[in-house]
Formats: sequence, structure tokens, C-alpha cells
Amino acid sequence: MVRMATELVLLGTAGAPLPVPGRAGISSALVVDGRVFVIDCGRGTPSGFADAGLDFARLDGVFLSHLHADHTGDLAGLLLYPWGVRVRPDAPAPPVRVYGPGRPAQVPAGDAGFCRQTTIHPELPAPGTTDLVGHILAGYAYHLNVMPLDAAMPDPGQLVRATDIAVPARAPGQPQVPAVVLDDRGVLVRAVAVTHGHAVPAFAYRFDTADGSVVFSGDTTVHDDLIALAQGADILVHHVADLGYLERHGWGGAALDRMAGLHTDVTEVGGVAERAGVGELILSHYLPAEPGAVSEQDWATRAGLGFSGRTTAGRDGLRRTLPSAEGR
Ligand SMILES: [Zn+2]
Repeated sequence: MVRMATELVLLGTAGAPLPVPGRAGISSALVVDGRVFVIDCGRGTPSGFADAGLDFARLDGVFLSHLHADHTGDLAGLLLYPWGVRVRPDAPAPPVRVYGPGRPAQVPAGDAGFCRQTTIHPELPAPGTTDLVGHILAGYAYHLNVMPLDAAMPDPGQLVRATDIAVPARAPGQPQVPAVVLDDRGVLVRAVAVTHGHAVPAFAYRFDTADGSVVFSGDTTVHDDLIALAQGADILVHHVADLGYLERHGWGGAALDRMAGLHTDVTEVGGVAERAGVGELILSHYLPAEPGAVSEQDWATRAGLGFSGRTTAGRDGLRRTLPSAEGR
């Protein structure tokens, strides 16, 4: 059998939960020898998956960087909409494997400036990935139990398996040893915890394949462990924020400081890529998300300062094949 290449597809490139016209929510796909891995599941992921011509029966794994809704909101749809085609010519498709953060060690506390009013679901106020998937199945039990009575459907018990990623232990002053999330038939996925405000844990992922390596930053401030994880990768898909734009559009004080504690600014991301020594920096998860707010050329020019590799402003549907035709 001829082995196929590895291909990266950006399914959506918008940051933050609010839907904007013209750009779908954050999600990327990596296709390795026909198996599809999805990284983050923001708004429109199932549609982006179909638009990209990907095969729902070959959806193998979903990797959640953290549990904010802009990264998880369409997980239910990605599991449930294509359920009926989760069959292969010879057998049912194996369950979709979903990986992401577990329950945090502590429920984050607020402060005077930013706090909760009502605590939702106080018996489990900070559910992890396996909880989320369990609740999706419970919430859609009607569909899963009743639809097979009217249409031939695969066994819903084989639809999904969720795994909480254990945060790597670290000694004080030492870098994290990445957690091995998946090591299966030529795909090695490793994760490190990064810094995204109160969203703890939040992960960055590195995929190594026979064709090359791709790193997904998730949402993070500039983080040495991400830079170590990304060392020498072919492609770094990195989120980007323009904090100056936000400041010019009414953000300030503590609210702007919070944003700086959540994100990597466009002026910093080139330095991240340079220190990591990656081949190409592809921008995604834009903040502001509106396509007209900042031009692609402006994003790429500013992000590429200080980076000697290739910088590309990502857009929905952008594809890259590994190994690249230019390199190697
Ligand atoms: Zn986000």
C-alpha cells in the first residue's frame, strides 16, 4: 500500500468565542497517512472538516488545548453529526479518541476585578475532558438511543473514548518533560502545559510523523516550554493577538492586562518562532478575529519580525503538505 503524505489544514482561524463573519472558530486538522487528527474544536469545525474534503470515517483523534468554549464548542457536533458514517467497508470505525485537560487541581478563584457571580454546576464546577465527553453523551442520549430505531446506525457505545492528559510533573527551575499523549502507528503526539490566564491546564501539542513535525501552540503567553517543545519543527501553528489594536479600540487597565496574561502578542510571536528554530510560522486564532480588522499582510509582516524562517498569515482552508516540496 502506498503511504500518503502528512497534510495540515486550517479549519478555522478565529480567536475568542464571539462568532464573526468570514472566519470560523479555531480548529486545525493534521492528516497522517489518511488518518485525521483535529486540534481544537471551535465554531464551525464539522463544516470546515467537510469543506476541506476530509473523511469523517477516518477521524481518529481530537486534541483539545484547553476547555474554553471557543476551543470545544463544536465537539458535540463533530462527534454526533457524522456518527452515521462512522463505518468502514470491513468494520465499524474505531471510537474517536478525544484528549484534553483533566479536572484542574483546584477550581480557579477570582478576585475583586474579575469574579464569578453564580457558580454553575457546583457539584462539579470545573469538569475535565472525560467529564465533558460524558456529559455530551448524556445530554444527547435521546439522539443516541432513539435514532437507531429509525436509521441504521453504528453502536453508539463505540462512538468516542476520552482521555484526560496528566500534566507533566516538573522540578522547580527545570523544564517540563513533555507528556506523551499518543504514540501509535507512526504518529507521536506530545504536550506541554502552557500559560493561558486562569485556564489551567492548557496545552500545546507537537505531532511528529515520518514526513515531519507540526506544533500547535494552543493559547499561551510566551512560554519557554512551548519553545522547547517546538525545537526544529517544520511548522509552528501559533495563535496571535494584537494587543495594540485592542488598546486602540477601548481596552485598557486591568482588562488589557488580563488579555496580556492570556495571549502572545503579534510583536512577540516572531521571537518565539526564531528561538524554536522552526521552518515556517503559520498564524492562527486571530484576536481581533474579524478578517477586516487587521490585514493578512499586516499580521504576517509584524509577526515575522525577528524570525528568519517563513511567516504565513493563516486563513480558513489553508493547507500545507509535508515533507514540503522546497525543503529536504
Ligand atoms: Zn482561544
